[in-house]
Amino acid sequence: MKDENATIWDTNPLSVRNLWVEYLGERGMVKAVRGVTFDLRPRESLAFIGESGCGKTTLGLALIRLLVKTARISQGEILYRRSGRETAVLKLKGREMRHFRWCECAMVFQSALNAFNPVLRIRDQMYDTIRAHWRMSQSEMRERALSLLRHVQLDPERVIDSYPHELSGGMRQRVLLAMSLLLDPQIIILDEPTTALDILTQRTILELLKSLKAEMGFSLMFISHDLSIAAELADRVATMYAGAIVELGLVYDIFYRPAHPYTLGLIRAVPTVTGDFQDLISIPGSPPDLIDLPTGCKFHIRCPYATDRCRQEEPTLEPYGPDHSVACFHVDQVRRDADAIWEGTGHVAAGEAA
Ligand code: SF4
Repeated sequence: MKDENATIWDTNPLSVRNLWVEYLGERGMVKAVRGVTFDLRPRESLAFIGESGCGKTTLGLALIRLLVKTARISQGEILYRRSGRETAVLKLKGREMRHFRWCECAMVFQSALNAFNPVLRIRDQMYDTIRAHWRMSQSEMRERALSLLRHVQLDPERVIDSYPHELSGGMRQRVLLAMSLLLDPQIIILDEPTTALDILTQRTILELLKSLKAEMGFSLMFISHDLSIAAELADRVATMYAGAIVELGLVYDIFYRPAHPYTLGLIRAVPTVTGDFQDLISIPGSPPDLIDLPTGCKFHIRCPYATDRCRQEEPTLEPYGPDHSVACFHVDQVRRDADAIWEGTGHVAAGEAA
């Protein structure tokens, strides 16, 4: 007999199809996200990595439609699924969209201090969020807030009556996590979850995220320029370059069997515990101007493998082995070189050092 609950449980909560986002800038149209397609799987952690300005944060904001006024989603589809029901996020209006933004998909923004209202105590910020979506008595709201603050391993009675500036950076980050969970969303988007935190606090936040995810069963999409965090927390990793996903695969494949020259370049630029300083190789040049993108593959100016074809044609993301996709014309050569680099230099990937 068919187990209907299993079908619902295993449905991907989010599917993004051919998403394009543009900003109107003074010099012209900035193509910040270009044709992004991916699925977020149930209970998985999906990391988006890449240099600043590659479109990671814009993608996260587009998913909950919190883009600035000068931005527009020019093409694409965002499909959200829960309990056997599918919703086209780009068609949601007013109240429905607000419901989606907190109750189904919550985002924790970069810079924990800026995300709070500085003149309100934590309790009032949490109660406002609950009140806007649920009907609860004052005592029920307090109980919910205290319980989540306890879940993120804070002293709930002390923190609930504090102002944001009375808390450390790590405590604020945990309060934001608790707030994102207030309305029991199925998806959490984290933008640079540990930026500006010291190394020990980073470790605590990562452990906390892992245990919350295991306990509560949400899917996590996180954005990071720090490869060691992606290696530590992600089940799958998407590498973004010039607004597009250029490689998507299981975390092991991305770090130990990279097949795109940009992913390989990012990994080789990370210092490791056992590698020599000489092993570190930075990626030459800088990311392209998103207003005036080069022809062909957008990485060709910086790519050591570039050929005439790369300068004329843009590769699309194609399957390369199970659960691994790459947008590159010279995948086999990159794979062979990546293997030779690891074997020849003893250089280890970021995941091993983490
Ligand atoms: Fe480099 Fe060509 Fe692959 Fe682009 S398609 S990443 S330029 S080898």
